[in-house]
Amino acid sequence: MTARLVVDLTAFIADLRRVRGVVAPARHMLVVKDDAYGHGLERIVRAAAGEHVGWYGAFDMHTAVRVRELAGPSARIVAWTVYDDADVDAALDADIDLGLGTRPLILAVAARARARRTTARVHLKIDTGLHRNGIRPEEWQEAVDLALSAQRDGALAVTGVWSHIAEASDDEDDRSRRLFLAAVDALGAHRPLRHLAASAAAFARPEFRFDMVRIGAYAYGIRPAGGPGDAELGLTPIATLVATVTGVADDAVTVDVGFAHGMDSRLAGVLEVGTPAGTRRLTAVHATTATVDAWPGAAVGDDVALFGGAAPHSATDVAERLGTIGEHVLLRVSPRLPRAYIGAGD
Ligand SMILES: *Cc1c(COP(=O)(O)O)cnc(C)c1O
Repeated sequence: MTARLVVDLTAFIADLRRVRGVVAPARHMLVVKDDAYGHGLERIVRAAAGEHVGWYGAFDMHTAVRVRELAGPSARIVAWTVYDDADVDAALDADIDLGLGTRPLILAVAARARARRTTARVHLKIDTGLHRNGIRPEEWQEAVDLALSAQRDGALAVTGVWSHIAEASDDEDDRSRRLFLAAVDALGAHRPLRHLAASAAAFARPEFRFDMVRIGAYAYGIRPAGGPGDAELGLTPIATLVATVTGVADDAVTVDVGFAHGMDSRLAGVLEVGTPAGTRRLTAVHATTATVDAWPGAAVGDDVALFGGAAPHSATDVAERLGTIGEHVLLRVSPRLPRAYIGAGD
């Protein structure tokens, strides 16, 4: 074998069940952007579909359309980045819900749906402070009126109202929540699905759950850096970065993962890794290889867990040493490194 990212699908399913149990009766939209946070979209969506996950959140249309192929016709899929009419057409063809955060987009999607004599399902996004592609509160009522008028003529179905929050401070999130509630009120008698929280707020703050939560990180067992631990959350990291031994010297073992594969060179001399003989220190990180303190009987072909699984540290533990978040550690694992799957559905 050679280096690979091993994804434990049994652990993924356990995390999914945990997430759904915590947030119920709110629904869980499984966020699968960035190739399911580096875990590999295809196997993750197939495993989730086996668990009857009803909603998927995709950043871009390409991912959303792929999820449609993988999850089948009954899945609900929301894409929240729409660039042009080709994206709108792709969404209408594949029955994808659109997250819309500007008035021009609302108009453009309604026009496209009218031209095709169909209805586009849309989720209107209010900017509650993060300033990432959402309708500003002062423009919200006008946007809502536009969308509801397009709903009356059948071009749009206003299916959701949503926002994304920082989840960095309770005060800031509370302010966002108040803006969100006012935005929902602006829809009057029309009551679409409300979704506001991602992983952290969905677990920690029940009043943020509303009808649905959009959770990526926790579903993959990625805990927040500096936040509650895996045991407290009831979650297990599902990915292990495994390197294999390619050379053995007296005091050092060489493995086939380096910074070109996403291993941060600042971890040299700092990170403890999992070897067949127990924990050893990572001593150097080169372009395509790294070295680890030797152990008795080390042999070419042995597996070394760099993070996750049998390693003493998870992706978030590594992230904390680097001053970043677990998602970034996983997303830095080169897409060219194969993903291997173990556990349920394998
Ligand atoms: C990535 C993302 C999420 C999921 O966030 P996690 O913290 O990974 O659960 C939710 N909503 C939006 C809009 C996102 O981009």
